[in-house]
Amino acid sequence: MPGKIWFVGAGPGDPDLLTVKGRKLLEAAGAVLFAGSLVDQAATLFSPPGCEIRDSKDMTLEEMSAWLIERAARHATVVRLQTGDPGLYGALIEMTRPLTAAGIEWAVVPGVSSAMAAMAAAGETLTLPEVTQTVILTRVAGRTPMPPGEELEALAAHKTTLCIYLSITLLHKVQDALRAAGWAEDAPILVVQKASWPGEEKIVRGTLADIKRRCQDAKIASQAMIVASPTLGAADWPELIRSKLYDPTFTHRFRKATETQND
Ligand code: SAH
Repeated sequence: MPGKIWFVGAGPGDPDLLTVKGRKLLEAAGAVLFAGSLVDQAATLFSPPGCEIRDSKDMTLEEMSAWLIERAARHATVVRLQTGDPGLYGALIEMTRPLTAAGIEWAVVPGVSSAMAAMAAAGETLTLPEVTQTVILTRVAGRTPMPPGEELEALAAHKTTLCIYLSITLLHKVQDALRAAGWAEDAPILVVQKASWPGEEKIVRGTLADIKRRCQDAKIASQAMIVASPTLGAADWPELIRSKLYDPTFTHRFRKATETQND
């Protein structure tokens, strides 16, 4: 019986942000294939002595599948460790299809995505009542084209929270798209590099007009999340619309209103 291959989300970088399930799998792993420099710490911190650990950064997809299949023949638990969540820009299905074809069992363990880690690092929220209740996780076209209808300009027209992956070197494209969608020059933009990395995280706050210069000044050219959102800075707003869930006048399944609404 071949072993099982687990696609484990390592989280954004801080090994403490790996899930308990992911950590248990690493502790039981006979072999770990990890994605580049972003997650090596988690792989080496938690995997047992004697575990085969391999960086996939110089491997093709075919080589990775072959490596995983070969290890599954020898180990009960094989881990493919990926940054953030494996289902976001993780080539997950490309990797699982050859495993299914080879009759090897696999499963996915979700991870904390860098969009969540970036907002957490900055003390910001992805949604706010009556401001925006929608989050779009996207990127701009680089070598990978965007499918029709998903151009950032079209998505930005919704004026929701936009978490933009893989695009820090294309910040000018992000600016152009937001402008074309009608975002103001003083709209707040957040960039977080290496969110959650102990001692290496950089948080840059700016506006649509100056975010590129601020990122240049901070020497941020890789591993960064761009967030454009009408929620940014809400911690300092003079007034806030409260969440109905915690409002004393609002009754819900778990709590009866303790005050009556007076509007
Ligand atoms: N699966 C990952 C995304 C992989 S694509 C996830 O869920 O987060 C790689 C992109 O993710 C980078 O270009 C960057 O935009 C973002 N990213 C990954 N780790 C990051 C971190 N610690 N801080 C900020 N952005 C990060």
